[in-house]
Amino acid sequence: MKEIRFDGRVAIVTGAGQGIGRMYALELARRGAKVVVNDLGASRDGAGADTSAADKVVDEIVAAGGGAVANYDSVATMAGGENIVKTAVDTYGKVDILINNAGILRDKSFMKMTEEEWDLVIGVHLKGGFCVTQPAVKVMKENNYGRVIFTASTSGLYGNFGQTNYGAAKMGLVGIMNTLKLEVAKFDIKINTIAPTAWSRMTSDLFPPEFEQKMNPQFNEPMVLYLCSEENTACGNIYAMGAGWYGRTAIVSGDGVCLGDAQRKISVEEIRDNFDKISDMENKREHGSGLGIFEYMGPLLS
Ligand code: NAD
Repeated sequence: MKEIRFDGRVAIVTGAGQGIGRMYALELARRGAKVVVNDLGASRDGAGADTSAADKVVDEIVAAGGGAVANYDSVATMAGGENIVKTAVDTYGKVDILINNAGILRDKSFMKMTEEEWDLVIGVHLKGGFCVTQPAVKVMKENNYGRVIFTASTSGLYGNFGQTNYGAAKMGLVGIMNTLKLEVAKFDIKINTIAPTAWSRMTSDLFPPEFEQKMNPQFNEPMVLYLCSEENTACGNIYAMGAGWYGRTAIVSGDGVCLGDAQRKISVEEIRDNFDKISDMENKREHGSGLGIFEYMGPLLS
């Protein structure tokens, strides 16, 4: 079996000071990549900053014979994102791999959520995805090569009580991917989104104690490293995972129904009378872009 290697590749992993991101950084370096270990060293709710989080992971990589450099910028500003990418370019000359992983939580039920809690979570996850990815993709385009990962969550894909801010940010990243993949299609830049599950400080009070081993953050790492490898040709997909289970998830649409002739007014009663057909998902289909939805309207538009 040919080993998947990252020799000669330069990777940025945001929020790599602990948890799932640390696993990516350690294994990328073990397989030959030079790694920018970004971490603000924030607490779970995003407060504070501590350089030791990133430093410890860099020390671990270097002690094992790998190459890594620390960066302590916040992903949540464009200046921070640009500096994270600059750290990679100044130290190693380029960026081949970007894993957007940094994250915080400010859980609150929707009706109790404050503007600050909303903005902070959207800022780190969604704006952070923009602020680091834009300067990184600029460098990737120059080299006609790149692998980008966005980190979503099942909370965004399917919902989770108390996480409207987090869920909205995570689904927003899927929205970035869906369009960015089209904008960089002519370059060898593959962009995918993952929804990980792991025991970390983010989840340790949600999962039962026996999950600590079973939900080891390591289980997310091989899937993400595969998606970041040269061998991977998948782009624009969403993969969920945890505890050794890996599966693709997707946004799909059903066949629906064409009413009228694109001339006459459609009544609300016609919607009611066709609601089962409109809601039917038996023939699910994915679309490579928003234009896909025009396939269904074809008979009405021709
Ligand atoms: P974690 O709290 O262990 O690690 C997150 C890291 O991000 C921390 O080291 C923190 O310092 C860093 N960070 C926070 N704000 C930052 C900022 N502004 N700039 C740079 N670094 C910052 O969390 P984790 O469980 O390892 O989660 C990693 C990612 O996976 C997050 O995006 C999280 O939302 C996502 N996720 C995790 C789970 C899970 O089950 N653990 C589930 C779904 C999604």
